[in-house]
Amino acid sequence: MSPARIVVVGAGMAAVRLVEGLVGSGHRVTLVGDEPHLPYNRILLSAVLEGTHTAGALTLRSRRWYADDDVDLRLGTRVLAVERAEREVLLVDGTRIGYDRLVLATGAIATLPPIRGLVRLDGRLHERVHAFRSLDDCRRLDAAVPHARRAVVVGGGLLGLQVARALAVRGLATEVVEGGEHLLRGQVGPAAGAILARDLRRLGTEVYTGARAVRLVDGEQGGLQLDNGHVLETDLVVLTAGGRPSTALARAAGLEVRRGVVVDEHLRTSDPVVHAIGDGAQRGGRTTGFVPPAWEQAEVLAAHLRGRAATYDGSRVVARLRATDLDVAVLGDADAAGDVVEVSNPVAGSHRRLVVRDGRIVAATLVGDLARVGLVTQHFDRGTVLGPHEPGDLLLVERPARPTAVPDDAEVCACAGVTAGRVRACSSLEDVRDTTRATTGCGGCAPAVRQLLAHRTLEVSPS
Ligand SMILES: Cc1cc2nc3c(=O)[nH]c(=O)nc-3n(C[C@H](O)[C@H](O)[C@H](O)COP(=O)(O)OP(=O)(O)OC[C@H]3O[C@@H](n4cnc5c(N)ncnc54)[C@H](O)[C@@H]3O)c2cc1C
Repeated sequence: MSPARIVVVGAGMAAVRLVEGLVGSGHRVTLVGDEPHLPYNRILLSAVLEGTHTAGALTLRSRRWYADDDVDLRLGTRVLAVERAEREVLLVDGTRIGYDRLVLATGAIATLPPIRGLVRLDGRLHERVHAFRSLDDCRRLDAAVPHARRAVVVGGGLLGLQVARALAVRGLATEVVEGGEHLLRGQVGPAAGAILARDLRRLGTEVYTGARAVRLVDGEQGGLQLDNGHVLETDLVVLTAGGRPSTALARAAGLEVRRGVVVDEHLRTSDPVVHAIGDGAQRGGRTTGFVPPAWEQAEVLAAHLRGRAATYDGSRVVARLRATDLDVAVLGDADAAGDVVEVSNPVAGSHRRLVVRDGRIVAATLVGDLARVGLVTQHFDRGTVLGPHEPGDLLLVERPARPTAVPDDAEVCACAGVTAGRVRACSSLEDVRDTTRATTGCGGCAPAVRQLLAHRTLEVSPS
């Protein structure tokens, strides 16, 4: 492919992954993002809130890296319009940038639940109410925490549980309100949801399911009123009740948009020189909302733009929860049809469920114990045909497998698709980060990576 001007709109997690894949391709890349900060790892915002990471530690690439690789980085500026006839984007300050290929990586926007009193007359959120999607949201909430004793998190999805755990670790009496009948209802079934609720209560966080927050009550004893009339007294309300693909730009440009921006197997929109990736894209009737598929799309598109054969079929759905003392991994669609093999241990707080069709794992949910996530992922990805006892054997292990028992080709990092063998080939954690990008996504693989490295050191050091 001859060198092209590639403009990427939205400097988030999918965009940076794409730009990494385009380095050295000869294309002239411009990356435009409306947030003022260097692109960062959004997944770890709850770790900043919790206090285990600094905001600076979330930066994905240094300013120098973009400069050295000739990436024209424009931050703190919004793309207002895509003018397809001219092949230009229009920035908020009136600047126009021409493109040969345009990539929309605009992510998702938080949705406001219908709760009276959330928004003030001037259009801003009530001072006790917080969104949690960006570094600026995180900083505003972080600054409010020392002045608060109680918090209510609205939404019991992955993000809600992360924020609830972070606030609880910071010492706030934290409660979670979830309108559905169980936690994580988008990803897991009722049994796993019940175990998670039990885990959270054990960790000191109260959970209300099947309850909707309807009104913010002002005053000294202010709180959040539920639809059953009960008022939860609180100093802070954090909204994590969902997001939707950010599609306004694509819609205004006349591209095909349903829930997300519709793309084909080359991540092409209805205009073949405009692509979409990440939370904003929709492939095969499905939008995603997680880093592993966003990175997979970015890698496929980078290969495609380099003239290599690569397609995205949207079938690999992987979600990991990053929260202290709460472990969840979900592969595939929990509602997939098939035989269910399930092991629940509410006492230990673990739940493992496989959906098996024609001997193959088509979906898996692991809560509370991810010891076997590498092997399960490997079988899931490869479509391994398992014998009749194997699914049960996979789930019955209570203790983590010894690192040596993890085969080289077992996937350790779901975000970056890194196998145990590639980790073993590295000399240190820094080496793993730089050469494979494992541990730089949700961070859920860090314990396994450390274990593999430690074992490797033992293997190579003379006794
Ligand atoms: C707090 C939090 C925790 C999460 N935890 C997990 C997790 O544990 N595991 C997991 O897999 N996923 C998690 N996610 C989801 C994950 O972050 C997203 O799937 C991922 O960031 C998607 O990448 P993206 O590039 O599509 O969107 P984003 O990373 O959201 O980036 C989009 C960027 O585009 C910018 N933008 C939008 N419109 C314009 C415009 N017109 N002009 C310029 N810039 C624009 C936005 O401001 C944003 O910076 C979490 C999300 C949040 C908010």
